[in-house]
Amino acid sequence: MSVRVVARIRPLLKQELDKDTIVTADPPTSTDPKAKPSLIRIPNPKKESESFSFQFSSVYEQNSTQQELFDTEIAPTVKHLFNGFDLSIFAHGCTGTGKTHTMRGGKSLADRGVIPRLLSAIYRRCKKVEKDTAGETQVEVTLEYFEIYCDRVYDLFEPPEKRTASGLPIRDNNGKTIVVGLKEKPCATLKEFEQIYDQANVNRSTSATKLNAHSSRSHAILCVKVTQTTETTIQVSRASCIDLAGSEDNRRTDNNKERMVESNAINSSLFALANCVDAINSKKSRIPYRESKMTRILSLGQNSGLTVMILNLAPTRAYHLDTISSLNFASRTK
Ligand code: ADP
Ligand code: MG
Repeated sequence: MSVRVVARIRPLLKQELDKDTIVTADPPTSTDPKAKPSLIRIPNPKKESESFSFQFSSVYEQNSTQQELFDTEIAPTVKHLFNGFDLSIFAHGCTGTGKTHTMRGGKSLADRGVIPRLLSAIYRRCKKVEKDTAGETQVEVTLEYFEIYCDRVYDLFEPPEKRTASGLPIRDNNGKTIVVGLKEKPCATLKEFEQIYDQANVNRSTSATKLNAHSSRSHAILCVKVTQTTETTIQVSRASCIDLAGSEDNRRTDNNKERMVESNAINSSLFALANCVDAINSKKSRIPYRESKMTRILSLGQNSGLTVMILNLAPTRAYHLDTISSLNFASRTK
């Protein structure tokens, strides 16, 4: 069990074209033409003539495509999911660095992100399993989609009016942590998925507007449960896709009380996540997954699953200090 931590640098946006790029990838040292860079380089903010470098499993540069990222990092994990292993995919980084683009993506086929591509791959695999077993194995796909905001859990399949102030309670049940009252929706086709997911994302942004907050202040967690049933066996595995809250430190710039509470909740949950990833990758026997609601609900590191962490980075100087702290986070997790 280990966590792959990869970095992805987003391209310059239209309004940034005159800005200089300070985050770069070092070219691979290997002569293999398919080798990807694995080092990120960034100037030391205190002494620009020096630079820091950070090692990743892989680095995706500004011109990398959604397809390339999916095919390399995620597609190979789908067979493990069908073999009963859980899968967790995180997008981490400051607001504006491309987390939602990476996970959800745009409308066009080429722009589709990890989530719709993963669902598409899962449905293809369902058909294959049913065909290969001559219909003896039935596969059912169900979805849960919720957000964690200020350490409270809200169901994204419910309209925002239905929310209670304290959110949904969590409870331990047979060694698993469950969110009590969370809706689980069966979803049999990609088309159905797109409708359900789009509607839930509308719930996400309207609820944020109501709270006078921004949806980038919450973690959005989509769980895709795959249940394979034969006459005598039943196997359940979960793919969890997490668009994390922005990791920028608002305490530096914004001392509004509400924002401080948000920031503290985000910081402590990201810290707990980093501790888990670090414990998994350094093969510690105890993974401190109970230290935050998110890692508890995901049972991170408890079920010998696969985890991919995508660290999203913006290339420009405007993000310099936040980028350094993101990179420090990621370097702790290896
Ligand atoms: P985040 O979710 O981290 O706040 P977004 O995904 O909303 O960031 O990205 C910020 C902006 O950058 C959006 O306008 C998005 O379309 C654009 N963007 C991010 N990554 C890419 C990319 N790889 N290619 C093109 N545009 C991107
Ligand atoms: Mg976002």
